[in-house]
Amino acid sequence: MTRTSKKTDEIEHEICGIMEFPDDRFEEIIGELGFVCDCCGRCCTSEFNDHVFLLDEDAERIIEVAGREALRPAPNYEFCDNLGRFYVMGYALRSKPGGDCIFYTGGRCEHYGDRPEICRIFPYMLHREEDDEGNIDWRQIGGLDMHGMYHSEISVEAARDIAVRVKRYEVAFLRQKLAFFNKIEAHFKKHGLRHSQQMYDRKMREFKMGGEIELYVFEKGEFIRMKYSI
Ligand code: SF4
Ligand code: SF4
Repeated sequence: MTRTSKKTDEIEHEICGIMEFPDDRFEEIIGELGFVCDCCGRCCTSEFNDHVFLLDEDAERIIEVAGREALRPAPNYEFCDNLGRFYVMGYALRSKPGGDCIFYTGGRCEHYGDRPEICRIFPYMLHREEDDEGNIDWRQIGGLDMHGMYHSEISVEAARDIAVRVKRYEVAFLRQKLAFFNKIEAHFKKHGLRHSQQMYDRKMREFKMGGEIELYVFEKGEFIRMKYSI
């Protein structure tokens, strides 16, 4: 089994897990948390978010309202081939020099109506994560007790709406990832390439020191080739 096909099996398994997670239990947890956003804006800064990942549909909308210059390849590139070219599953929003989101200005989002889906569902989530003791379990909220207000009354309808949106986002994210891994497998096979961790580490060191890399960003089923440096 190749590295990518093992990964695609894992992603498919994760998708099934999310879809099978009982809706009533998820809605119950949302109700028990009773989270209410106090609009502090911290999730738009580097304090809370390393980057704002864009689904394909988000990227398309952001390009329309703010242009391609608002995008950057999502950090943490997944693959590097034996010729030293990186591959990544999508885009993120650009950050300002201090790390805040490029749209975060004067304590407000400049494109609130067109904000990415991850901004709409935050801080809710539905995926398995490892805790500090190494136990893997489902997580439904990020930054628990570190922001916002808790134990407020959440209506059944609101909890259902949140649950639907979160599940839809998590599955869409994983489907984009799955399509990317399938594309990589086909691309490597067709061109006689393979992932090289040694090449990845060497090129990443050069990149972090300001060097330019060749990068393929997965966008709507295709790879967009670019030269990229930080
Ligand atoms: S797009 Fe808007 S809501 Fe999302 S992180 Fe940026 S400023 Fe915040
Ligand atoms: S979701 Fe949390 S961090 Fe973001 S604005 Fe609301 S309370 Fe602040």
